[in-house]
Amino acid sequence: MTKNKKSPHWQVTETTRPIYRSAQLLPPVPMNHDAISAATRQILLAVGEDPDREGLQRTPDRVARAYDELLSGYRTDPVALVNDAIFEEDYDEMVIVRDIEFYSLCEHHMLPFIGRAHVAYIPNGKVIGLSKIPRIVDMFARRLQVQERLTRQVAEFLETLLQPQGVAVVMEGVHMCSMMRGVKKHDSRMTTSTMLGAFRKNLATRQEFLDNISRGAMPLSF
Ligand SMILES: [Zn+2]
Repeated sequence: MTKNKKSPHWQVTETTRPIYRSAQLLPPVPMNHDAISAATRQILLAVGEDPDREGLQRTPDRVARAYDELLSGYRTDPVALVNDAIFEEDYDEMVIVRDIEFYSLCEHHMLPFIGRAHVAYIPNGKVIGLSKIPRIVDMFARRLQVQERLTRQVAEFLETLLQPQGVAVVMEGVHMCSMMRGVKKHDSRMTTSTMLGAFRKNLATRQEFLDNISRGAMPLSF
């Protein structure tokens, strides 16, 4: 069964080109649903299962659909995503969005790592609608990732988009590949951060952000 999804159509112009580059997309062709489905059937056979037993009959198709969603960030149109939500504004205080849930897949085991992102920036004439920041996190999280790169990509994308005075991103994640595989549990929790511009140069600015996100923070628990 082939899914006839229309290819996304990028709106590349002089202005949007840096945004596309910063989004680090894959070519806008639909994922090969049939190939993922066939490969999943092979995995079922290879582990000794019977892919034709009732519970597994539709599994290859389900897995292909799941990947279509879990890896959709490679083909999200970043310009369409943020287009109507960037505003000229004189505001130049720190903007913080904390506790953004994220769900990603580690590129080493293709198992989930999930957690929370905290994002801050100091505007320099442009602000973005707050609801867009979780969607930007999603765009990068729904790929095969390592948490360090995910963190940096979100920060650099916001820098490209807004040319702010500074951007900071902190991510806390728990990694199923460590938790489920019996590696020491404390290794499964990870904090990563990227500080750009004023957050990198100015200790007080960085500290203000870190104090804010640690205040009343709920510990990650799974
Ligand atoms: Zn892993």
